[in-house]
Amino acid sequence: MASESSRSDDREARLARLRQIPRTPVLIVGGGINGISTFRELALQGIPVVMVEKGDWCQAASGALSRMIHGGLRYLETGEFSLVKESVRERDRLLKNAPHYVAPLRTTVPIDSWGGGLLNAGKRFLRLTEKPSRRGALVIKTGLTLYDAWSRRFGNMPKHQLHNQPQTRQRWPGFADWVKCSAAYYDAWIAAPERLGFELIEDAERAEPAALALNYLSVEQCDGEKITLRDTLRGETFSLKAHVVVNATGAWIDRLNGTLSESLPERKLIGGTKGSHLILHCPALLQMLDGEMVYYENQEGRVCIMFPWYGNVLVGSTDIRVDNPDDVVCEKDEQSYILDSLRFVFPHLTIKEEDVLYTFSGVRPLPASHAASNGSISRNHSLVLLPPLAGRDFTTLCLVGGKWTTFRQFGEEAADRVLKLLGEQRKVSTADLAIGGGRDFPSATRKPGWLKALSSEYGVSQTRVSQLVSRYGTRAQAVMNFMRLQPDHPLHAQPDWSQNELRFLIRHEQVQTLEDLLVRRTPLAISGQLTLPLMAEVNALLAEDRGWSPEKSAQHLTDTLSRLAALHGLGRLYPVEMNKESCHVSQSESEA
Ligand SMILES: Cc1cc2nc3c(=O)[nH]c(=O)nc-3n(C[C@H](O)[C@H](O)[C@H](O)COP(=O)(O)OP(=O)(O)OC[C@H]3O[C@@H](n4cnc5c(N)ncnc54)[C@H](O)[C@@H]3O)c2cc1C
Repeated sequence: MASESSRSDDREARLARLRQIPRTPVLIVGGGINGISTFRELALQGIPVVMVEKGDWCQAASGALSRMIHGGLRYLETGEFSLVKESVRERDRLLKNAPHYVAPLRTTVPIDSWGGGLLNAGKRFLRLTEKPSRRGALVIKTGLTLYDAWSRRFGNMPKHQLHNQPQTRQRWPGFADWVKCSAAYYDAWIAAPERLGFELIEDAERAEPAALALNYLSVEQCDGEKITLRDTLRGETFSLKAHVVVNATGAWIDRLNGTLSESLPERKLIGGTKGSHLILHCPALLQMLDGEMVYYENQEGRVCIMFPWYGNVLVGSTDIRVDNPDDVVCEKDEQSYILDSLRFVFPHLTIKEEDVLYTFSGVRPLPASHAASNGSISRNHSLVLLPPLAGRDFTTLCLVGGKWTTFRQFGEEAADRVLKLLGEQRKVSTADLAIGGGRDFPSATRKPGWLKALSSEYGVSQTRVSQLVSRYGTRAQAVMNFMRLQPDHPLHAQPDWSQNELRFLIRHEQVQTLEDLLVRRTPLAISGQLTLPLMAEVNALLAEDRGWSPEKSAQHLTDTLSRLAALHGLGRLYPVEMNKESCHVSQSESEA
């Protein structure tokens, strides 16, 4: 078993490199998708950029999205045509550049009338009202026609269809009586946003080896040129000077600006709203959805979504203003609100509290706004440049707003501003650049042959190869190369995963905590598969790799259980008696 110092290799090496960098041209603060995207853009232009994140990559809003890669149909109503057009274009790019995680999603909109909502939609468009109301078929058809036009320009999604009442009833017998017709169209969903975020970092560091990304490192203080960073795991501090700081801290933007300069004039950039989702175990609903998303208005006219999620159903979300973005959680009343919204569309479903397997919450980093309705705050993004001033000797570029779908475009715009500040030129475009395991991903026709070839090359069953490819895309080959270096075993508590597969993630993907592994590098938590034995088994692999003592390992497991209970509603895992012995890989397995 490796000693702690010899095994914390990757992080120690990264921290050692950071100690050797007294000054960087660009420091990006915030490792959500927008900071990561800017990091990739700059690294690809050969800039030795540094990025720090106070927790894990994509731990905040970028891990709490509805997991839709979409144009944003409803933004047409508020006249945000350029945002929708850009989103459709970026959606279609992601379908090509990240085909291992992003896939088309057939979507149905239940509608209560043909002509309803015309007046209100017109008023919203002219900004005479912010009140959401039900949209009739004509309003929705107008939006979908524009969607189709843009989709045809950038990709090849099928055109939308309107279905009358008998057609709708035939496909959706469980819909509420108020549903008079429906529209069907295609958007897209993302299976592993946190993994795609990590793969972008990996691509960037490979393209520019002097670029450095460090998680669990927080910006704490600034004194003139000197920025103080703190290792949030061990407490060590570092200082760094930067020519430009990119503030990509999402809902924390104003806080970081306050940290960077106390003398900064009061200018609020962010007015975040919290959104929560549930993962439901509901086979009857899953069967009705049959692979489709339902994009529906709830009793208040707010748009909500539900779609199949790893054998369960993802449903959300809420939209509540919050001032403190730290550790937001899905409250009980939000859970009831989401379930009531669901019953509004499917009134005959019985859903019990214990059917909620997992919850997650995040804060949308929306621009500060006085809008009366949260839904009418713009989802567009913008850049705000703060020049150097007394006590803060560098320029700060703030990334305000932005959807997950449009991260590439936003990162490109941010990087171009930074390049201009540095007097550098853009050399590479990311528009058509495949990401991580999306590189060399075979077409649907080539895929079966490719899987078969991999299966014989690695001596692994085709089922297992397909599973690994669905998890890692073409990076599955790197995973399999690692897995065959030593004998492997399926996990006792979840045989769909193997020890060496998890060891690969632990060693190669900047995993610092059990939570990183369960929540962001794998879908084990969000797919509702967590049990105490499984957590203990995975924790044991992490402890073995890091050389943790039995006490440290047991404490880490306890801390993770508490966090998952608090942040994701997993308190029901507690009643199981915790066995310290289970925190270790058994001797025979670790030696095998
Ligand atoms: C409920 C919800 C549903 C959504 N659904 C969708 C959707 O379906 N499709 C879509 O396209 N978009 C969606 N979005 C929007 C999208 O997820 C966000 O706009 C996007 O993820 C924002 O990314 P970000 O990088 O700007 O912010 P974040 O992901 O919040 O990242 C900011 C990071 O900064 C870090 N940080 C803060 N302070 C410091 C510091 N001092 N030092 C170091 N690091 C710091 C934080 O820890 C955080 O990780 C949704 C958002 C929410 C909340």
